[in-house]
Amino acid sequence: MPQECIFCKIAAKDVPVTVIYEDEHMMVFPDINPVAPVHVLVIPKKHIANLLELAPEEVSLMGHILSTIPKIASQLGIANDGFRAVVNTKEHGGQTVHHLHWHVMGGRFMTWPPG
Ligand code: AMP
Ligand code: ZN
Repeated sequence: MPQECIFCKIAAKDVPVTVIYEDEHMMVFPDINPVAPVHVLVIPKKHIANLLELAPEEVSLMGHILSTIPKIASQLGIANDGFRAVVNTKEHGGQTVHHLHWHVMGGRFMTWPPG
């Protein structure tokens, strides 16, 4: 893992966070700078820089993460009204942490298009 990757450190428990969900492959914790009443980050424990870096053998991991997100949304109470799950990718996507993650946000109406 890249030594400077903050999300690898969180996955390795070197940086403590409030763990909302965790299993062998993934972790969910609150965003440190929330932009919605509910705003969590969903990460694979394995370091993958972004969607462009996905390897064919990681497709099942992606399926696992995507199928877990609605369960987390239910647990957080944002499934009934709905939520937004976003993957920012590289500069134009607004990615600032280069370890693949989903923002899962809810608790308010989300506008479209995004800024
Ligand atoms: P992005 O800009 O899409 O790469 O999202 C990175 C997100 O990580 C931002 O929303 C930050 O607020 C969040 N973030 C950065 N460092 C931490 C941290 N130590 N714990 C929780 N969230 C973090
Ligand atoms: Zn990482």
